[in-house]
Amino acid sequence: MLQSAKFLVVLLSLSASVLTARAAPEPLRVVTLHTVLTEIARDVGGAHVTVTPLLRPGTDPHQFEPAPADIARLRQAELVLAAGLGLESYLGRLQRELKPGVLLEIGALLPNPLRGSPSQAVHHHEPGHDHDDDEAHAHDETDPHWWHSLDALQAVVDIVARQLTLLRPDARADVERQAATVRSRLASLQAWARAKVETLPAGRRVLVTSHDAFGYLAREFGFTVFPLLGSSTVDEASARHLAATIQLIRRNQIRAVFTEASSSPRLLETIVRETKARLGRPLWADGLGTDPENATIDAMFRHNLTAIVDGLSAD
Ligand SMILES: [Zn+2]
Repeated sequence: MLQSAKFLVVLLSLSASVLTARAAPEPLRVVTLHTVLTEIARDVGGAHVTVTPLLRPGTDPHQFEPAPADIARLRQAELVLAAGLGLESYLGRLQRELKPGVLLEIGALLPNPLRGSPSQAVHHHEPGHDHDDDEAHAHDETDPHWWHSLDALQAVVDIVARQLTLLRPDARADVERQAATVRSRLASLQAWARAKVETLPAGRRVLVTSHDAFGYLAREFGFTVFPLLGSSTVDEASARHLAATIQLIRRNQIRAVFTEASSSPRLLETIVRETKARLGRPLWADGLGTDPENATIDAMFRHNLTAIVDGLSAD
């Protein structure tokens, strides 16, 4: 009797531990290749994910290359989130290291009206800036900077939530609730952004920046954008393009031009000397940083749009 009772206890505790294991699977191992995706994966996944960011805040994603230790982390990942659309020039090589189906190129999954149109800038690649033939993504000319569109960010939240629930079906309720929280935060940000842009007369919504990173923001908020460089920070501008931009600023009496944290301000300083435009506060083009003004998507967006509207409103 005593023996069988003991047996029953063992049996019960065994099945209890099996049940617990079923109720709470290991958090999904997610590796992110972009700082904006790190925030979204953490906020949408919550306790159901462990997110390993390969890009430190403030790193230029155009120039990043994964180190051998990063490759080891990527091999362990159940889900790898990349910005896509050619931002990560190394993705073609990386794909060979990953299990099939692990890599999700977010930009390529954006619904078509949200995905960027071909980059507007005149492209002048640095001499010697040739890519390997097998780097198919490096020549994708669609603008990869989708995190400057709040509509695109909303879609990205949905894409990430869908993939997380696919890989962890038990987490569905939590993931959907967390995704809804992020979406409502983005909706508040959008309401604020629209009101902010409304204060700027339509004729002043002209954006001169270093590299072609703000096409998405421009399209969403009715700006015309004149980047000096292509869609990568490794591009260079020609003297002719620089002269044309100076003419454009003089003709339209543009009040401000904008440098970026990841680009050299040299060209824009030349423009400031040649025109009446002032240098606006530097914009955060390529992802999140560590300062209060750029540590989150919300902070980055508010900083950029405030800098733009204030700069272009000035007399
Ligand atoms: Zn960029």
